[in-house]
Amino acid sequence: MDADREPLLDPQPAADDADLETSLRPRRLGEFVGQDRVKAQLELILTGARQRGAAADHLLFSGPPGLGKTSLAHIVAAEMDAALRATSGPALERPGDLAAILTNLEQGDVLFLDEIHRLPRAVEEILYPAMEDFVLDIVVGKGPAAKAFRLPLPPFTLVGATTRTGLLTGPLRDRFGFATRLEFYEAADLTRIVGRSAELLGVPVDTAGSEEIARRSRGTPRIANRLLKRVRDYAEVRGDGTVDAATAAAALEMFEVDHAGLDKLDRMVLHRLCGDFGGGPVGLGTLAVAVGEQPDTVEDVVEPFLIQRGMLARTPRGRVATAAAFAHLDLPFAPPEADVPRLFEG
Ligand code: ADP
Repeated sequence: MDADREPLLDPQPAADDADLETSLRPRRLGEFVGQDRVKAQLELILTGARQRGAAADHLLFSGPPGLGKTSLAHIVAAEMDAALRATSGPALERPGDLAAILTNLEQGDVLFLDEIHRLPRAVEEILYPAMEDFVLDIVVGKGPAAKAFRLPLPPFTLVGATTRTGLLTGPLRDRFGFATRLEFYEAADLTRIVGRSAELLGVPVDTAGSEEIARRSRGTPRIANRLLKRVRDYAEVRGDGTVDAATAAAALEMFEVDHAGLDKLDRMVLHRLCGDFGGGPVGLGTLAVAVGEQPDTVEDVVEPFLIQRGMLARTPRGRVATAAAFAHLDLPFAPPEADVPRLFEG
């Protein structure tokens, strides 16, 4: 992530957050707040597997960072009373890297593969028979002397996580028994998450204070937890340590999170789109260059939230700003060129 990005609002985990993340992570399905449909589906899948004494089906969780995909992987292992091994797509450079992990699995283990869309193709091919038939196909030697071996693996559950289902190949996607997308959290659920985290951290916060933090958290639990920490600092240094709506609002203004939960980068994207590009349509690459960010960051982190807030739309011709975006920036609404009815054309 670029240095310009306000780290407080970066939905990606930060190194110094590791302890916070671990201490606040929900451990069981019952502690996982919100996402009720996903929870009900998982409950069913895991209970069924437990009753049969089998490993659960392979599970794929997609959605923007910070919404609970890693937490769910840990929860699946805990609910199945199984061990969790974690790795990620970019960490597995060669087929041998994955083979080493697979051959060390024990019956029923949960293998968590984060950023699965970044798995190199040669590694992905090892994964197909491992997922489908619990076997590892290895070839030793080269040319006519090469020999193929097939090693049996213990039944395991693969939990994949990705911010981009679109980048997964069809054969890989098809090998998951269950795939689901996590959505941004409703304010009420985020309020409960802030309340839960405040209790675990011993921060006195009233309901209005939790609501204020929740409202500004971009629908993302990871950001809610991070903002809570900053608000706690503010309350301890500038106040008596208790967090109410006014303290939360003042603290978050200081960190440039606005009342709609938009951060500096969100607003910069909207400013460029509504100002320089007259509301669009503009291509992702151009927009990313205009705000000095990687296209991936704009696409994975900024856009999903702005789309969910109804401020930005992806169209075949490029990104366009909506009336809500102009209103948020206090600019007069200039409908994107593409949408202006061509009333005066001869
Ligand atoms: P992802 O893997 O999608 O990036 P994580 O599972 O690492 O997200 O979640 C980030 C943090 O947010 C976790 O450490 C946890 O404290 C919190 N969190 C995420 N989802 C929930 C939830 N549904 N209920 C409570 N806390 C959550």
